[in-house]
Amino acid sequence: MKQNNSLICSIILLFLFTGPLASQEPEETEDWSGRPDIVTPGKRNHPPSDAIILFDGNDLSAWSGENGEPEWKVFGRSMTVVGGTGSIETKQRFGDVQLHIEWRAPRKVIGEGQERGNSGIFLMDLYEVQVLDSYNNETYYNGQAGSIYKQHIPLVNACFKPGEWQTYDIIFTSPTFNEDSTLKSPGYLTVIHNGILIQNHVELKGPTVYIGQPSYKFHDEKLPLTLQDHGNPVSYRNIWIREL
Ligand code: MG
Repeated sequence: MKQNNSLICSIILLFLFTGPLASQEPEETEDWSGRPDIVTPGKRNHPPSDAIILFDGNDLSAWSGENGEPEWKVFGRSMTVVGGTGSIETKQRFGDVQLHIEWRAPRKVIGEGQERGNSGIFLMDLYEVQVLDSYNNETYYNGQAGSIYKQHIPLVNACFKPGEWQTYDIIFTSPTFNEDSTLKSPGYLTVIHNGILIQNHVELKGPTVYIGQPSYKFHDEKLPLTLQDHGNPVSYRNIWIREL
């Protein structure tokens, strides 16, 4: 009787494992519908083949200033904020993107908190990834380097010393809106700072605001990328973007 039972058990198990699979082939779950484009990765810190170059060290031809031509200083393959001349924005508009940008806080440490090496990268001119010298420089945590300003604290502080070049690799999903202008889906940001994940697909609460709670307002599907003039001579270089 016991032997019979185990035989029946074995037959049931054999059916369970082979029965449903017997009618399927491995090829049935292979997806050949959308062949990914071939992109040549950049060698030694160069942009990949399908990137839009926003700044290669030569000039600000991809950018506009608040009152016409941008007045930031281009020197030594980098551009530097000239305090008081205003933020600069790309002439081209973007929605969902992958952005690579390198930045450097001034080597000479002046000021503290939000007054030290402050700038910012505004996706769609609205959603700020904070640039700040947060190396031995305490401020409110949702305002330090790599924060989504006043919304999300970075997972870790991955800052190099002031005067050293740092990288942000940013993946941005723009919010979408319904026909009646109400929010359909929020925006999301992922940020890798010097190779370290510091924002992991965090949900945006709305455009960045300095005072009060953010809330979404309808905007175009594509808007410029903006770099902030916060009065400190922060430098940028090697800026490229891929539309997603
Ligand atoms: Mg800022």
